[in-house]
Amino acid sequence: MDSLPEPPRPTAEGASPAMAQWFANKAEHPDALLFFRMGDFFELFFADAEAASEALDIALTYRGEHQGQKIPMCGVPAHSHESYLARLIRRGFRVAICEQMETPEEAKRRKAPAVRREVVRLVTPGTVTEETLLEAARPAWLLALAPGEERLGAAWLDLSTGAFETEALAPADLHALLSRLEPTEVLAPAALGLAGAVETAVPRDAARRVAEAYGLATLDGFGEYHPAEIAAAAMALDYLKTTQKGAQSGALAHLSRPVPRGSQGVLQMDAATRRSLEILRAERGGARDCLLGAVDRCVTAAGSRLLASRLGCPLAEAAPIRARHDAVAALLGAPALRGAIRAALKGAPDMARALARLSLDRFAPRDLAAIRDGLARAAIIAEALDRPEGLAAIPPLLAGAAAALRPEPDPAPELARALAESLPARLDDAGIVAPGYDGQLDALRRLRDDARGAIAALQLDLCQAWGVAALKIRHHQQFGYLAELPAAAGEKLLRDAPPKATGDFAPIHRQTMANGVRFTCAALAGLDRRLSEAADEASRRERLITRHLRTLCLGAAAGIAGAAEALAEIDIQAASAELAADGGWCRPEMTERPDFAITGGRHPVVAAALARSRAGAFVPNDCDLSPGGRICLLTGPNMAGKSTFLRQNALFVVLAQAGLFVPAQRARIGLTDRLFSRVGASDDLAGGRSTFMVEMAETAAILNLAGPRSLVVLDEVGRGTATWDGLAIAWAVLEALHDRTRCRTIFATHFHELTALAGKLPELQLATMRVREWKGEVVFLHSVAPGTAERSWGLHVAKLAGVPRAVLARAGQVLASLEERARGLDPLSDELPLFARPGGTQPAPARHPVLEALAALDPDSLSPREAQEMVYHLRSLMDGAVNLG
Ligand code: ATP
Repeated sequence: MDSLPEPPRPTAEGASPAMAQWFANKAEHPDALLFFRMGDFFELFFADAEAASEALDIALTYRGEHQGQKIPMCGVPAHSHESYLARLIRRGFRVAICEQMETPEEAKRRKAPAVRREVVRLVTPGTVTEETLLEAARPAWLLALAPGEERLGAAWLDLSTGAFETEALAPADLHALLSRLEPTEVLAPAALGLAGAVETAVPRDAARRVAEAYGLATLDGFGEYHPAEIAAAAMALDYLKTTQKGAQSGALAHLSRPVPRGSQGVLQMDAATRRSLEILRAERGGARDCLLGAVDRCVTAAGSRLLASRLGCPLAEAAPIRARHDAVAALLGAPALRGAIRAALKGAPDMARALARLSLDRFAPRDLAAIRDGLARAAIIAEALDRPEGLAAIPPLLAGAAAALRPEPDPAPELARALAESLPARLDDAGIVAPGYDGQLDALRRLRDDARGAIAALQLDLCQAWGVAALKIRHHQQFGYLAELPAAAGEKLLRDAPPKATGDFAPIHRQTMANGVRFTCAALAGLDRRLSEAADEASRRERLITRHLRTLCLGAAAGIAGAAEALAEIDIQAASAELAADGGWCRPEMTERPDFAITGGRHPVVAAALARSRAGAFVPNDCDLSPGGRICLLTGPNMAGKSTFLRQNALFVVLAQAGLFVPAQRARIGLTDRLFSRVGASDDLAGGRSTFMVEMAETAAILNLAGPRSLVVLDEVGRGTATWDGLAIAWAVLEALHDRTRCRTIFATHFHELTALAGKLPELQLATMRVREWKGEVVFLHSVAPGTAERSWGLHVAKLAGVPRAVLARAGQVLASLEERARGLDPLSDELPLFARPGGTQPAPARHPVLEALAALDPDSLSPREAQEMVYHLRSLMDGAVNLG
């Protein structure tokens, strides 16, 4: 967050009445920018003004003096303040909105020195509801954390949709939760030491506070909670109370009850696994380079949000997963129905977020229209599901959603009658209510709209009475309706009014300008009053009707929220079916055994990227980790596709257990309780841990937590340290995974020595990425085959990457001599079973070092002196005595 600039902090002493209010409100919200309403503007003062003018790139001006210093000031127009808010919130600021609570006239009547102002809302990243401030396709979680006995209470809510969930977790699982939710704002007590969190105390009487927020005497009806969970829920609700101070009654009508989630029935993934699998965002690249981006075919933002939650939190129980697969399968087999559903969903408004704005009384006319139109789409889809074309029966998940599509009570018919076809942008503007809905409003509008005829008639009368043909009645912002006369005629009327210009028509002078004179008269003033009264009355009536429509929606809030959820659910199922149909994805068979058998699997993101760039076809690969071959030891050169293979198999678990189909010809997946992926080295320098330290900490986590139902994909364990240390660690880890954790594992490595374990570990299968050598170059085939890589091809890849030839030549020499040395180690193999090469997996004999060195040689790049040195070197290789220095 951009921190607010520190002092100078002026004091309130000697301030004008308005500035004294500013100081009082600022004192209550010292860590927020104060948007101080003054007429049509929100003004900022002092350090706030300096920070905001810089962040928003708007002019910094000065206004009056305070304690001998000019007051820095900047302002934004009230009617367009939302876009400025958006920029400030994105920069990490919090903003306190200080509104005028009365009109200047009311203040005058009270004899108050300034209009009353109050902070009505604290705008923070986790409590915004405006469309412009939200990401349409991502939830905006406000997360509260309350440490309790043994467990850490967590409660997260999305004010923009009303979702509210809780969990009591082991403190060690906090990072996994943070990376799963990616909250926009976190509340935590200082004792947790969480960087970036808003410091918030844990309340004492939490259960009572939560019950009160829902208007209940007790929480018993809500379910079982851990005390820490309820404490966190109370923290979140208290924060809403503080930030949404000015919200009307019913403000939280859309908030669901806190649903205790627990980690039961959910696939466990730690933060490192989520990062490595790039589920919701990619480390590099754009939005479509992560899993969500590659599989999201939803046509509504609410569908995308729900999909993001599901991919972030896949299930671990067979029944609900199968229910989702049933729904996808049904829609896959009914393309006409799917098409009809998707067509009706396309462009369907975001009812959940519109409802939230209605509850918080922060809505625009289009939010009412969103409920009307959303429910209309819901009705169309409900009808399509009543008579499902091409389906014998609707699977239960879809049937349940279909039932929620017709809320009871249903505000849609009344909204349809009440709302005008094209709506103004703001609530203050006229024209929200359709003609014919309310007789009284229609009458007031007629009166208002009759103005033109009434004015034309009066204008004619005045022309005659005053004897001036060039008289025009015009409306002025300040004076209302006035009769304007050309200068000469005006002067004449002032001097010498005709006899008819008396009584109601007696001219009253208002203003003389360079080229004309303005008059009014009793008749004109009366008409002006009647017209403006009618207009005021009409807009008052319209406001009343709008309030009624809000109440109508809030009365149906539960049903509307249910219909919105059902639309999102149906969107996901139809989108997954569409994806499966387009890409030839298959339904994974979910089993209770530790199976894992994939035929023709593809990486959803890499395959899509290849297809987009037309860089060649993705090569599908099989993978079978079913009992008997639980551990796959994968060797192969860099760039051959190991990481891709590792990740794609881990992603199958995420996709399948989130309820989607998978990009394969066939897939049988045993339900997985924990998924671990360690692909691609990372460090944590900020946390004071080197790459190797991170690698070892993550390996330790796997060995401690993985079990027989877990799936682990591991890349290059032991690469970050000295060769023999690394090999020894990798060896021992592989043995432990095989003998103790007994999880399904793909273990990619460059330590070819590990293949020796195949003879010792019965569940170990060897696989390699196939490559071919062609004219001295390496060609990657990207296909996985049984066996071991013959060699590493590291130098070839280095060459592809543009490492200078001289360096490559030298590396070739060193490699040859190292291999020679390694051969010298052979005799040790009898004493060190570790390095024993079991029969059958013997790698192909290496070429003679002299031939290797010659092959790596680039004669054109050698100086005569280097050529001579090379001859000596070749000679020494022949003698088997080499000096590596
Ligand atoms: P390193 O060890 O250097 O990390 P790697 O063996 O893990 O390399 P990947 O990063 O998986 O290799 O793949 C390298 C590139 O090869 C990918 O970016 C992708 O473009 C391509 N690739 C990988 N797998 C396939 C495949 N099955 N079909 C086609 N192209 C593939």
